[in-house]
Amino acid sequence: MKKRLYPRLLVDLKKLEHNAECVLKECNRQGIRVAGVIKGCNGMTECAEVFARSGCTQIASSRLEQLNACRMAGISADMLLIRSPMLSEAEEAVRVADISLNSDIAVMKELNRQAALQNKIHKVILMKDLGDLREGFWEMEEFLEAALLAEHLEYLEFMGIGTNLGCYGAIEATVEKMEELVRCAEAVEAKIGRRLELISAGNTFSYPRVLEGDMPERINHIRIGEAMLLARDLQDLWGYDLSHMHQDVFRLQAEILEVRDKPTQPIGKVLYDAFGQQPEHEDRGIRRRALLGVGKVDYVYEDQLLPVDQDIQILGASSDHTILDVEDCKHRYQVGDIVEFQMFYGPMVYVTKSKEVNIVFV
Ligand SMILES: *Cc1c(COP(=O)(O)O)cnc(C)c1O
Repeated sequence: MKKRLYPRLLVDLKKLEHNAECVLKECNRQGIRVAGVIKGCNGMTECAEVFARSGCTQIASSRLEQLNACRMAGISADMLLIRSPMLSEAEEAVRVADISLNSDIAVMKELNRQAALQNKIHKVILMKDLGDLREGFWEMEEFLEAALLAEHLEYLEFMGIGTNLGCYGAIEATVEKMEELVRCAEAVEAKIGRRLELISAGNTFSYPRVLEGDMPERINHIRIGEAMLLARDLQDLWGYDLSHMHQDVFRLQAEILEVRDKPTQPIGKVLYDAFGQQPEHEDRGIRRRALLGVGKVDYVYEDQLLPVDQDIQILGASSDHTILDVEDCKHRYQVGDIVEFQMFYGPMVYVTKSKEVNIVFV
């Protein structure tokens, strides 16, 4: 089949490079090294290359497939696996990743065994849960026991500790949480009798500590994806001024396949939509609407798409259609016109994965 034109995703690597440089400059100035996290764009190796070139000390992903693709693409930065390895992938984790975040003792023993078989040293960072309630050791006693184990397993190198905040429990990475992480590191240091090389703050949601300049001094590592790929959450949700960065590294373009004046309220008895929801529609009389040849299958969250023409209102979507209200637009949209969107994290994850979205680097 001929390669389709639309929907297409424009990826601006120059803008990404600028974003990466902004984050790296801020972090490095404060003695913080940055792992460039590529899972938000499905591990696009082109983005990983930009991160590595800009000075990220590791390329990071939760998925070994993505890290392996980076290796295959010849990226020489250290590969960091940021999801604690499954027992069943320990062999691959050691083969593909130089470093992994860890939250289980049995897994670490298996990593050690696999590293011995591969005659390699695998580096580990132990995760401490500080209340976000996703991965990480909870009880201090078990955490210290794991640290001692990591220190003594022959084929593991115990690099340091880290935490993750924001992803699940949406807990804020406050100065207090960061100080708690440092205290955990100090407890580990007392236990193993030496200073840890690395204390890893968290993800994009810990970046405000860098922006505010109040990250505790001992924290020297952060794992950033979104703030470089989109630079949008901290600006639009948290109110930080990131206008010096580009929020449009990723732009989705879709083609209009129908334009018509129609009622705003569906006619007939309302049941359930294609996704089992009962939609509600405000009656605004007859208005002009446009249909796009792109849908939920491609981006899942239509409410996280941002039309570049701000007079466009996204009314909703089904699997393969997006329905727009274009009544108030200055431009008179016609069939064949292209509509462009910026996006939040959700659509980025899905459109970069959709086989039917044509990805074009600009
Ligand atoms: C996803 C993830 C990150 C990066 O998150 P961003 O919001 O993209 O910066 C960092 N650390 C861990 C453990 C993650 O799962």
